[in-house]
Amino acid sequence: MKLLLWAAIAVFVIWLIRSNNASTTIGAGRPGKPGKAARQIEPMVQCAHCGVYVPVSETVTDTSGKVFCSDEHRLQHARS
Ligand SMILES: [Zn+2]
Repeated sequence: MKLLLWAAIAVFVIWLIRSNNASTTIGAGRPGKPGKAARQIEPMVQCAHCGVYVPVSETVTDTSGKVFCSDEHRLQHARS
Protein backbone atom coordinates (compact mmCIF):
# COMPACT_ATOMS: atom_id res chain seq x y z
CA MET A 1 0.00 0.00 0.00
CA LYS A 2 2.93 2.33 0.80
CA LEU A 3 4.35 1.66 -2.66
CA LEU A 4 1.08 2.78 -4.26
CA LEU A 5 1.18 6.00 -2.20
CA TRP A 6 4.76 6.70 -3.34
CA ALA A 7 3.78 5.95 -6.93
CA ALA A 8 0.92 8.45 -6.66
CA ILE A 9 3.28 11.07 -5.19
CA ALA A 10 5.81 10.42 -7.99
CA VAL A 11 3.10 10.84 -10.64
CA PHE A 12 1.95 14.06 -8.93
CA VAL A 13 5.51 15.43 -8.83
CA ILE A 14 6.08 14.56 -12.51
CA TRP A 15 2.78 16.23 -13.39
CA LEU A 16 3.83 19.34 -11.42
CA ILE A 17 7.19 19.54 -13.21
CA ARG A 18 5.54 19.07 -16.59
CA SER A 19 2.93 21.78 -15.92
CA ASN A 20 5.74 24.14 -14.78
CA ASN A 21 7.63 23.44 -18.01
CA ALA A 22 4.47 24.07 -20.02
CA SER A 23 3.96 27.44 -18.34
CA THR A 24 7.63 28.26 -18.93
CA THR A 25 7.17 27.45 -22.61
CA ILE A 26 4.13 29.74 -22.75
CA GLY A 27 6.14 32.42 -20.98
CA ALA A 28 8.96 31.98 -23.47
CA GLY A 29 6.45 32.40 -26.28
CA ARG A 30 5.35 35.77 -24.96
CA PRO A 31 8.42 37.77 -26.04
CA GLY A 32 7.42 36.88 -29.61
CA LYS A 33 4.28 38.97 -29.32
CA PRO A 34 6.03 42.27 -28.46
CA GLY A 35 8.26 41.55 -31.45
CA LYS A 36 5.23 41.47 -33.70
CA ALA A 37 3.85 44.57 -31.99
CA ALA A 38 7.18 46.32 -32.50
CA ARG A 39 6.95 45.56 -36.21
CA GLN A 40 3.46 47.08 -36.30
CA ILE A 41 4.76 50.25 -34.61
CA GLU A 42 7.41 50.65 -37.27
CA PRO A 43 8.94 54.13 -37.36
CA MET A 44 7.36 56.44 -39.94
CA VAL A 45 9.48 58.73 -42.09
CA GLN A 46 8.30 61.73 -44.10
CA CYS A 47 8.80 61.73 -47.85
CA ALA A 48 11.09 64.59 -48.89
CA HIS A 49 8.98 65.18 -52.02
CA CYS A 50 5.29 64.93 -51.07
CA GLY A 51 5.47 64.95 -47.25
CA VAL A 52 3.58 61.70 -46.80
CA TYR A 53 4.62 59.54 -43.84
CA VAL A 54 5.77 56.07 -44.88
CA PRO A 55 7.02 53.05 -42.86
CA VAL A 56 10.83 52.97 -42.92
CA SER A 57 10.90 49.57 -44.66
CA GLU A 58 8.89 50.97 -47.62
CA THR A 59 11.02 54.05 -48.18
CA VAL A 60 13.49 54.82 -50.97
CA THR A 61 16.66 56.70 -50.07
CA ASP A 62 18.74 58.72 -52.52
CA THR A 63 22.52 59.25 -52.47
CA SER A 64 22.25 62.35 -50.24
CA GLY A 65 20.31 60.36 -47.63
CA LYS A 66 16.88 61.94 -48.33
CA VAL A 67 13.94 59.61 -47.81
CA PHE A 68 11.10 59.19 -50.33
CA CYS A 69 7.82 57.26 -50.35
CA SER A 70 8.52 55.82 -53.82
CA ASP A 71 11.18 55.62 -56.49
CA GLU A 72 8.99 57.87 -58.67
CA HIS A 73 9.11 60.66 -56.06
CA ARG A 74 12.87 60.21 -55.69
CA LEU A 75 13.27 60.76 -59.45
CA GLN A 76 10.83 63.72 -59.50
CA HIS A 77 12.71 65.32 -56.59
CA ALA A 78 16.04 64.82 -58.39
CA ARG A 79 14.65 66.51 -61.54
CA SER A 80 13.31 69.56 -59.70
ZN1 LIG B 1 6.32 60.99 -51.84
